[in-house]
Amino acid sequence: MKPRSLRLRRERLVEVARAMARKGLVTGSSGNVSLRLDSGMLITPSGIPYEHFRPGQVIWMDLEGRVLGGSGQSSSEWRMHAAIYRQREDVRAVVHTHSLFATAASFGSALRVVHAEGKTLFEEEIPVSTPAPPGTWELAQAVVEALGRGRAALLAHHGAVAVGSTLREAFLWAEKLEETARLAWELRRQHG
Ligand code: 13P
Ligand code: ZN
Repeated sequence: MKPRSLRLRRERLVEVARAMARKGLVTGSSGNVSLRLDSGMLITPSGIPYEHFRPGQVIWMDLEGRVLGGSGQSSSEWRMHAAIYRQREDVRAVVHTHSLFATAASFGSALRVVHAEGKTLFEEEIPVSTPAPPGTWELAQAVVEALGRGRAALLAHHGAVAVGSTLREAFLWAEKLEETARLAWELRRQHG
């Protein structure tokens, strides 16, 4: 890949990661974002608060976990991102959040989608993966299974993942997932 294209992609990934924090989908250094490349993926580093996060820290790695560029440690969830790319040819970006209402919903068995826009995006429900420890192949596999061909899934007792054909799309689906979870919570509060 040409250095300029790589740099632009790194900058774009930083923008989206920062937007994730700004919109309240994550706090501190939680969550992670990746972008598929022709060879491997770009992914956020582990444990770096988003306000201090710079393009040079974005990690370039192959889908087997070999680091090809970038300083620092790759996200501990690289296995989940790599497993999704291996399974889904259509997916070019993955956003993992710990947003509040989606995480609350991840304690259930599936998030029922009730509003018209949500049904268009996610169909009748957003699945929850089987519980697995963060950063493991077990979690990666559980998430791939829960996601199926869909746009989003919940990680049991942990958070959410959204996928898209661009970073913008994956980010938007993560926002819409949070909105869907919040709406379900409000409806339960108002109507039981
Ligand atoms: P990283 O900082 O290693 O990406 O981990 C954050 C996270 O959300 C783990 O599930
Ligand atoms: Zn997480």
